[in-house]
Amino acid sequence: MSSRDRASFDPPLDFRRRFRLLRKIEVIYFTESYLEVMDYKPEPEPLSESSKRLFSFGVIADIQYADLEDGYNFQGNRRRYYRHSLLHLQGAIEHWNQESSPPRCVLQLGDIIDGYNAQYKASERSLERVMNTFQMLKVPVHHTWGNHEFYNFSRDYLTNSKLNTKFLEDQIAHHPETVPSEDYYAYHFVPFPKFRFILLDAYDMSVLGVDQSSPKYQQCLKILREHNPNTELNSPQGLHEPQFVQFNGGFSQEQLNWLNEVLTFSDRNQEKVVIVSHLPIYPEASDTVCLAWNYRDALAVIWSHKCVVCFFAGHTHDGGYSEDPYGVHHVNIEGVIETAPDSQAFGTVHVYPDKMMLEGRGRVPDRIMNYRKE
Ligand SMILES: [Zn+2]
Repeated sequence: MSSRDRASFDPPLDFRRRFRLLRKIEVIYFTESYLEVMDYKPEPEPLSESSKRLFSFGVIADIQYADLEDGYNFQGNRRRYYRHSLLHLQGAIEHWNQESSPPRCVLQLGDIIDGYNAQYKASERSLERVMNTFQMLKVPVHHTWGNHEFYNFSRDYLTNSKLNTKFLEDQIAHHPETVPSEDYYAYHFVPFPKFRFILLDAYDMSVLGVDQSSPKYQQCLKILREHNPNTELNSPQGLHEPQFVQFNGGFSQEQLNWLNEVLTFSDRNQEKVVIVSHLPIYPEASDTVCLAWNYRDALAVIWSHKCVVCFFAGHTHDGGYSEDPYGVHHVNIEGVIETAPDSQAFGTVHVYPDKMMLEGRGRVPDRIMNYRKE
């Protein structure tokens, strides 16, 4: 957790006690185990309706599996556990499968296998290994695409692979403007009535995964070069806007217009919205080098609506959190790849009528995310 993150999230001392109390309450509402009910010692204060859990969902980021010895990140200060990441994933899946009230779905926030696989011609083999592990999960998983997906595969390959989970999308009858284009990988779905989740494509505008002979590649390269004069386009050295590096990307205007239409529908339909993207969009919650190129454009769309509760991203590996001035909670989930074998890195978000509570495991801290006041 960075110092900025610590400054922006200062949990009250009784956070864990309150959290455990809510979990105990769930035992009463949601399990059929009479013994557990008998075990529960009620607190003297009356319990409000808002304490009822509606549903939950899992989050996990940056698995970056490779059949390789441990290594280090680019700066050489973080160890990467390439093989153990698969065991971390197995542990998370076993946890979710054993929940008395299992999550409705799991959000995989991108970078599922490491770019090194391409170098060793092991991309397909490694992806298959991770997808076989995901097969153990008893609930649907939604896959986002990150830079490491594009180091291993072309966009066309990904579109035809098991990493394309668009078949799980929701279709809003009579609102054709909420149907996403095939030009980017994004969709929305409803895991529980009145809760809409939106999966965004943060590499819609990028030089990664795009055919280099295409006009779109030339357009993206032009944008990148205009903001980054370095010979090595992965270097943020000397940049005013350090997010303009080759390992990031952005959202096309077409995708942002679509997002605006979905959020307009959600506002009208009085829904709560969760947004998922590999790249974060809020500087206070992230290292600025990791942000989406045009994060300000995405924030402007989100801030013009009242329905968005939180925005989940991966990519940073160190994690981060901040609530923005409009009451949207930005959560970057700690990366599995840089998680030691004796720790963990995943979370389960419990959804209540008035808030969402992230129950973190290992490196992932707990978070309370209250809905903004009407
Ligand atoms: Zn990434």
